[in-house]
Amino acid sequence: MSGFVVAIDGPAGAGKSSVSKAVAQRLGFALVDTGALYRCIGYAALEAGLSEDDEQALGALAQAAEISFVTESERNRVFLGEMEVTGLIRTPQVSALASKVSAQPAVRAALLEQQRRLGRRPPGAVLEGRDIGTVVFPDAPLKVFLTATPAERARRRAQDLRAAGEVVDLLALEAQIAERDARDRGRAIAPLKCADDGLELISDGLTIDQVVDRIVTWAKDRGAS
Ligand code: C5P
Repeated sequence: MSGFVVAIDGPAGAGKSSVSKAVAQRLGFALVDTGALYRCIGYAALEAGLSEDDEQALGALAQAAEISFVTESERNRVFLGEMEVTGLIRTPQVSALASKVSAQPAVRAALLEQQRRLGRRPPGAVLEGRDIGTVVFPDAPLKVFLTATPAERARRRAQDLRAAGEVVDLLALEAQIAERDARDRGRAIAPLKCADDGLELISDGLTIDQVVDRIVTWAKDRGAS
């Protein structure tokens, strides 16, 4: 039996992670951070010294990768095999590499089934990503495209990195975000975009709670209990 799927797609820094986590908690659903899967492949490729253009090797790496999540109240821990990679996959270097390896069709194909399996758990799941509403779960009863202006997204990402103790150059971060967005939007396979029947939500000027309230209301209107 499949559960109720809430797809939350959007560009980097739109608030997807905090919003998805809170929506999952409010609905009592599982949370699936699909970006973490691509980040794990980016990290593993870096460790293995693979080229970002070597589709075959990257696809094989993604097929073989055993990625698991342990959800705790404060954070979502990520494991690659036995090794905890929660922090290791959040560096700017891995962010850029995740975006590059995710443009490889063999990598996307390898991670597709894994995402569907994780998302089908009853009573439901919130999946956050780039192509959940368009490719992974095109029939999801609720598809949200969460976005914000580029400057706002860079500011929020800077806040997160600073909170994690990193030194941040805001302009460089804005440029990195713009570059990653352009690659995610422009790629031939599963580009970042709002599903035709998706609901676009621009989060500038809204608090996380306001965004969460709106999505939970939409989910309940569509039959999530
Ligand atoms: O969401 P997050 O920033 O962690 O995602 C890292 C990268 O993984 C994105 O820049 C994007 O290229 C890729 N990704 C994707 N499809 C998804 C989720 C993430 O291509 N469903």
